[in-house]
Amino acid sequence: MRILFYDTKSYDKESFDETKKLFPDTEIEYIKSDLDPRTAALAEGFDAVCGFVSSDVGADTLTILHSKGIKLILMRCAGFNNVDLEKAKEYDIRVMRVPGYSPEAVAEHAMALALACNRRLYKAYNKVRENDFSLAGLMGSNFYQKTAGIIGTGKIGAAMCRICHGFGMKVIAYDVYENPELRSFVTYVSLEDLLSDSDLISLHCPLMDSTHHMINIDTIKQMKDGVILVNTSRGALVKTKDLIEGIRMHKFAGVGLDVYEEETQNVFEDRSDEILEHSTTARLLSFPNVMITSHQGFFTKEALAAIAQTSLQNAMDFITGNPSPNDVC
Ligand code: NAD
Repeated sequence: MRILFYDTKSYDKESFDETKKLFPDTEIEYIKSDLDPRTAALAEGFDAVCGFVSSDVGADTLTILHSKGIKLILMRCAGFNNVDLEKAKEYDIRVMRVPGYSPEAVAEHAMALALACNRRLYKAYNKVRENDFSLAGLMGSNFYQKTAGIIGTGKIGAAMCRICHGFGMKVIAYDVYENPELRSFVTYVSLEDLLSDSDLISLHCPLMDSTHHMINIDTIKQMKDGVILVNTSRGALVKTKDLIEGIRMHKFAGVGLDVYEEETQNVFEDRSDEILEHSTTARLLSFPNVMITSHQGFFTKEALAAIAQTSLQNAMDFITGNPSPNDVC
């Protein structure tokens, strides 16, 4: 099978080339361009294409892929909101994905952000580099015996519950469905109780209409003073303008974000003063108790290896005609 691999980064090529040794029937050509209506025609002569969260797999792209004889789209990510499934079905194109490739990768990053905020590690790092060994401004709190509130207890939220439990924290959670695996050490509560009782709040639910801006000025006001808020899920779970208001009200001991509302707007690629002046992310970065990372939660060797392994197994299941739990359509 010949696969055209779009939006290639060096680390993608490394992990897929390594994993490909176990899948001798696959041949991959890597290109830097992302998959969209302008680049879909490059798939001529290939059997499948491999796309990512950033790809535009809408109707126009699918029409071109169909005209080039593509029968399989391998999404090397969990989400598929960028694929027009109706059109894919109409053209009989199979779409497969990689769900839950490494929940621990994201959960460990969430705890890293929580710890870095709590113990002011970013500030400590800079101070010591400047030869300032004083402890001024570095006081944190123990997590031990404090309350962790986890919103969304699917794969990543469950891993975060286990990590917090390992720290000796009391773990409470809110989800629309309870995860039976967590019953022995997690207490499910209402969202209101979670907000008012938690010392650390970590978001792990998907972005949907019902969760959009779930952290807003009303929910922020319900939180304890001195709470630490971590979001590694999706930026728009948090209404950024309200978060800024909450920070200015001194609600938070720390805020750790791996995702933020302006993520797709290339705010920091186009650094014009005008754009930065209106950027809520730039405003957030001006606060000393906020730490932002660039959507790197998933970015571990193990997660990349798992993505490559599952994507190529998906390709094999297509060749053999086997149904797969990773089928989107
Ligand atoms: P999952 O589907 O296993 O779990 C999501 C959980 O959220 C489910 O238990 C679901 O019942 C719950 N949920 C749904 N609606 C809810 C609501 N209104 N209130 C509370 N809980 C609700 O998903 P996952 O694999 O654990 O991933 C969680 C999120 O993490 C993804 O949606 C994605 O946005 C994000 N993510 C981030 C990175 C990163 O690199 N930072 C990587 C992968 C995933």
